[in-house]
Amino acid sequence: MKVSIDILSGAGRKTAAAILVTYQASHESREIRLLLDAGGSLEVGEDKGWNQPKNLDAILISHDHQDHMGGLLDVDGNVPVYATQEVRKLLPTHLNLQTLPVGGMTLIEGIEVTTGSAGHSFGGVWLHLNIGEGVYYSGDFCLESTLYPFTMPPKARIALLDASYGLYDNSLEEGKQSLLSFLKEEKSLVMPVPQTGRALEIACWLTSLDFHDWTLGEDCLSAETALASPIEGICADARPVLECIKGRQFDFNTKVILCGDPDGVSGLAADLLLQPETYLPIYTGHLPEHARQAISEDKAHFVRWNVHPRKQDLKRLINHLGCDTCVPLFHGMKDLQEWQTALGPSVTSQTYIEKTYDINS
Ligand SMILES: [Zn+2]
Repeated sequence: MKVSIDILSGAGRKTAAAILVTYQASHESREIRLLLDAGGSLEVGEDKGWNQPKNLDAILISHDHQDHMGGLLDVDGNVPVYATQEVRKLLPTHLNLQTLPVGGMTLIEGIEVTTGSAGHSFGGVWLHLNIGEGVYYSGDFCLESTLYPFTMPPKARIALLDASYGLYDNSLEEGKQSLLSFLKEEKSLVMPVPQTGRALEIACWLTSLDFHDWTLGEDCLSAETALASPIEGICADARPVLECIKGRQFDFNTKVILCGDPDGVSGLAADLLLQPETYLPIYTGHLPEHARQAISEDKAHFVRWNVHPRKQDLKRLINHLGCDTCVPLFHGMKDLQEWQTALGPSVTSQTYIEKTYDINS
């Protein structure tokens, strides 16, 4: 049996995710070709940097963020595209959409694909392919979320892991403490956030501190929608807080306004950023050029709200998986030795991996 992995995009920097997995069983002459994620560019006007491979059998989407599914706009509508029920709602409609469970096993072209909650976004999953001795793709993942659970995956010899923060190792708790210091500012705070990611998570956190002077943009994931999701999609501990905030209406007259889009270039966030005398912008994730500029002029602030793994989380997952080949994705890897010292000898910067297994399958 032969397994090959070709990272078409996503290696070496924060960019669109697109990974081609090819599998040929020992008794078969036909190859199965699966594309894991079909990301679009993160920068406006930039090419996504990969082309749809020929003869695809299926496309599997980890979650609904632009850099993981934005490339689906250009995809041929005949290829089956698998995503969870929550993620499917935000995908282009010309596609041949199929459903993945947030947690469970799906047979795709004879391959057992296990999915589990990735702790990063609403309905977002990791993907485990039972081929060779296991291929695991984390999508974007986080072990620190109090809203989205992370389910530990089955073991895998090949791991393709989100390493968007590189070897950064500060905890989400530190970010929370710095955010608290901004609540004392005179101005209202506008926080441009991904609508299906940390928006509701930050609202839940503020509520759990008995701070209720916040509002959530109408385009953000609501407590009602989260509560209606499958049980494995939301942390059990978050349910009482969600119950407490459900039904809240958007209100401009609050101290903290959580709204999209995350880059502040469209939606309500963009409107509010035009009123710097009233609103102080606080960014918590990816920083577009205009945000970097505002921060350098002290007109905005940046506090990282962890939605990707820290070094210690990568290490924990690598140990759990027992992998012998691990490719960190979505970050530069200039000094491979530094990565191997931090995470172990399985770490590689190769973008093409091929393994032949002398076992029946
Ligand atoms: Zn993401």
